[in-house]
Amino acid sequence: MSHFTVTLPSGIAWTPNFIAAINHDKCIGCGRCFKTCAREVLQLMAVDDDGEMFAIEDEDEEYEKKVMHIAHPENCVGCESCNNNCARRCISYAPKAM
Ligand code: SF4
Ligand code: SF4
Repeated sequence: MSHFTVTLPSGIAWTPNFIAAINHDKCIGCGRCFKTCAREVLQLMAVDDDGEMFAIEDEDEEYEKKVMHIAHPENCVGCESCNNNCARRCISYAPKAM
């Protein structure tokens, strides 16, 4: 399988890693990754006591915890700065298959 690769000005081929998953068992919904990402990839979501995820529309809504969700993976540029700013190291990446 081939992966999306770019050729750098030096002539070296580089295969970026794009956001692939967030470990919701580790995520504490702190929002640091969201603030880091300039590409609107991420969205903070609520999780109810049945484990169902839903968008937070009203701060008074009841939920078990908050987690970060990959809402728009197609916008990711593979900079990996979100995980660098995650104290829990929840985010994993993968090259994009072509
Ligand atoms: S920075 Fe890490 S712990 Fe905080 S919301 Fe993002 S993925 Fe979750
Ligand atoms: S790798 Fe970069 S562009 Fe992709 S979600 Fe993380 S911060 Fe946003």
